Amino acid sequence: MKTSSNVLAGFGTTIFEVMSKLAIEHKAINLGQGFPDEDGPADILAAAARATEEGPNQYPPMMGVPELRQAVAAHDGRFYGLSVNWQTDTLVTSGATEALAASLLGLINPGDEVVLFEPLYDCYLPMVKLAGGIPKFVRLDPPNWEIDPAKLRAAFSDKTKLVLMNSPMNPTGKVFSVDELQLLADLVIEHDAYAVCDEVYEHIIFGDKRHVSLLTFPGMGDRTVRIASAGKTFSLTGWKVGYLTAAGELIARIAKAHQFLTFTTPPNLQKGVAYGLAKEDDFYDGLKNSMQSKRDRFRNGLERIGFATAECDGTYFLNADISSIGFTGTDEEFCRLITTEAGVAAVPVSAFYQSEGARQNFARFCFAKRAEVLDAAIEKLEDFFGKRG
Ligand code: PMP
Ligand code: GLN
Repeated sequence: MKTSSNVLAGFGTTIFEVMSKLAIEHKAINLGQGFPDEDGPADILAAAARATEEGPNQYPPMMGVPELRQAVAAHDGRFYGLSVNWQTDTLVTSGATEALAASLLGLINPGDEVVLFEPLYDCYLPMVKLAGGIPKFVRLDPPNWEIDPAKLRAAFSDKTKLVLMNSPMNPTGKVFSVDELQLLADLVIEHDAYAVCDEVYEHIIFGDKRHVSLLTFPGMGDRTVRIASAGKTFSLTGWKVGYLTAAGELIARIAKAHQFLTFTTPPNLQKGVAYGLAKEDDFYDGLKNSMQSKRDRFRNGLERIGFATAECDGTYFLNADISSIGFTGTDEEFCRLITTEAGVAAVPVSAFYQSEGARQNFARFCFAKRAEVLDAAIEKLEDFFGKRG
């Protein structure tokens, strides 16, 4: 047999799949892979069901159904004050994952440098490498995940094609501050580069934090690709409906890749999401409040056991410092131990780092679960660590 792709040979199975498999094997409560355990609003499901029955269920337009593209433009105007021409500045993809792939393949030439923040969401690095990009890492460390401006500046060069960023950020729960975004904007403009912004958690943001898109910064309108997804906004992660907003010139380049990747996305689901994006403010406020109360409930439980937890201003994820309860092994050993012995699965944060020297004392827990599931997980952890100590 001839060899497989050299780029992919360097990557194993994603940590999400590994931990979910282990969780199933050991009947553990799965707080590893990030997905909610309740489906999104019934009226969105009904809108998609109606669209399925009424049809057509044939290939929709390559750029997305007009209803969804119009809804994306209206959403971006409503939440961010952006003026978006739906016919030129939007594109629908099969999840944010395909939006990321199409953006990177559409913009990167072999040898271009790409600035990436560690910890990294799992598909970023393989995709950058498949496109021929050279990664330049900027490492953020727990528990505050602060950006060192000098290190960020040093990652940019005249070879930088783009920076790929994610705010609110998986797995850290960090929300980039306006100053950090401004610094990024300045560097992107200074180096005549682009910003690809993964904003899938835009509506899962807590307290008085507000989502701010780099697309709204002066000088960034022609340089920023904003990527969002129905998975997180409507608790429908299996639907894989993503959408991009960017200047028409960038969308055209990204669509060239999209047409050869998936070409299109199921029309019934696109129509369901179009309906969802127009939902009233109560829906969006409810999502944020419910996720925030899940975070607080789970954090209180972890802290009762004795875990110190990192900042979490958004996303589904809370990171616990495993050394704070006296655990001296690695985060990977910890996650395997609690999955197999305590019956609760989590994901080791070091799996999201590439560079040497990453801390190995944080475990990521997904709190996007029903209250009784979170309580049961805490009870199991409490029993296990209580018995141990
Ligand atoms: N980016 C981040 C940061 C994510 O956490 C996820 C998973 N929800 C994705 C992209 C992929 O989104 P989708 O399921 O829409 O492809
Ligand atoms: N976004 C999810 C997470 O971070 C995983 C998605 C996937 O399994 N590809 O856990």
